[in-house]
Amino acid sequence: MSKLILTCALCGVGTTKAQNPNVPITPDEIAADSIECVKAGASVLHVHVRDENGINVMDKDRFVEVVGKIRSSLAAEGLDAVINVTTSGSKFSYEQRMSHLELVKPEMCSYDPGTMNWANSYVFLNEPKFLEELGTLTQKLGVKPELEIFDAGMIGNINYYIKKGFLKPPCHVQFVLGVPGGMPGNAESVAYLLPKIPAGSTWSITGIGKDHVPCMLLGLAEGCNGLRVGLEDNIFFSKGVLATNAQLVARAAELGKLAGREIANAAEAREILGVIKPQL
Ligand code: ZN
Repeated sequence: MSKLILTCALCGVGTTKAQNPNVPITPDEIAADSIECVKAGASVLHVHVRDENGINVMDKDRFVEVVGKIRSSLAAEGLDAVINVTTSGSKFSYEQRMSHLELVKPEMCSYDPGTMNWANSYVFLNEPKFLEELGTLTQKLGVKPELEIFDAGMIGNINYYIKKGFLKPPCHVQFVLGVPGGMPGNAESVAYLLPKIPAGSTWSITGIGKDHVPCMLLGLAEGCNGLRVGLEDNIFFSKGVLATNAQLVARAAELGKLAGREIANAAEAREILGVIKPQL
């Protein structure tokens, strides 16, 4: 079995300092958290960016600034990580959602193969045309899509985009379970979804909120390639106790070791995922 890839989803779009003061917002905070998370065992960093007021933005210059700071901060410590940037953002134009990829040269980017009502609050919008354009661009740039599966229908969409040539196997699938409007973070969901991912895929899992730890255990029981944790997905370490990103990564590493898994470093994660460190 492969070494276990730990991804930290550092801040996401919605979590605030009012909810948890440990959520990294500024470029300096995100870079500092990246160092701590890699030291704790993370080999992939999933990056969103915020403006100076903490509001989620899809701003290519901000991505350049934040990812540049992450890379230089890690390098200064002799550390390394796979960079995975988001492309999500229902309220942004296709151009805003994709223009950072060429500039930042990440190894990976999120690819959300379908639309759903997110937690009964807004439409998580991923139109067919966007998915075609994003698939084409990732192939042109050599960026590996992280196929985030929130709901069952998204598996069928993956197979459709493979058939049409917009996605190229082998794929990397990231189950994101427990978002209201998507599939719950339980064994029934994993048992249903897992046999349906494209043959030869690597896969990782995260559970949102209270599903965080149960989904890690489910993933380990099923031999996942990776676990994703982080304050994007869950702000608590335990009931009523606020987490830091590094604590969540360290716990994931412990669970992995308990399950008999070695933890992958960045070079090993690149090997497992089939991505190449970019020449900058
Ligand atoms: Zn994200």
